[in-house]
Amino acid sequence: MLRKTRNAATSHYNMDDTEVTVLRYGHRPGRDDRMTTHVGLTARALGADRIIFPDNAGTAADTVEEVTGRFGGPFSAELCSNQRRVAENWDGVVVHLTMYGLGVEDVETEIRDRATAGESVLIIVGGEKVPFEIYEAADYNVGVTNQPHSEVAGLAVFLDHLFGGAELDQEWERADREVIPTATGKRVVDPAESPATTDPEHSGHPESGP
Ligand code: SAM
Repeated sequence: MLRKTRNAATSHYNMDDTEVTVLRYGHRPGRDDRMTTHVGLTARALGADRIIFPDNAGTAADTVEEVTGRFGGPFSAELCSNQRRVAENWDGVVVHLTMYGLGVEDVETEIRDRATAGESVLIIVGGEKVPFEIYEAADYNVGVTNQPHSEVAGLAVFLDHLFGGAELDQEWERADREVIPTATGKRVVDPAESPATTDPEHSGHPESGP
């Protein structure tokens, strides 16, 4: 499988040795559309390799694939009709993010050690109520605090703790657009061309359309 390359000069944690999949458990069309899409975009941007959406979340999967096509990968978005089976049959470490779980700060080292030893990590985030079978299928029920907030926030903080910040320094393959960080304004370039140009047409949020 193709892997993202990381900037070895500044990363203190080698993400290339780990395989991370996010499972979005449940999706209510209409109500969850933006949140489900943002789970996928967050998984991609913050270092996961793959997201599995429920099969009624095809629009979210399309958006994530489209963003990957524009801003680079590798990252894949897949649909699955039976997420419980994915969780129960996972060959590796199953992490379920829930406000009722053990603190991320208490379990992150153990999970990271297993991931870097070669175990594939599945991270489950819910939307609507998550059935008890998922709590049982998980090797780790993990709370990012024990306060209620959101699947996007929980996923972002968990990935950052798992990767120890290395996810902030990824290099993307096959991007046809690259954002050049600027103190003011928006600069977007085609990595195959130079020099960098301001591109207001493509400077909006990915969800705002092509
Ligand atoms: N009562 C739910 C729970 O078990 O966390 C809250 C549902 S919340 C609207 C949707 C999802 O956000 C949850 O399934 C969980 O994955 C995530 N989430 C919310 N608060 C969290 C927390 N403190 N730590 C980790 N994940 C959280």
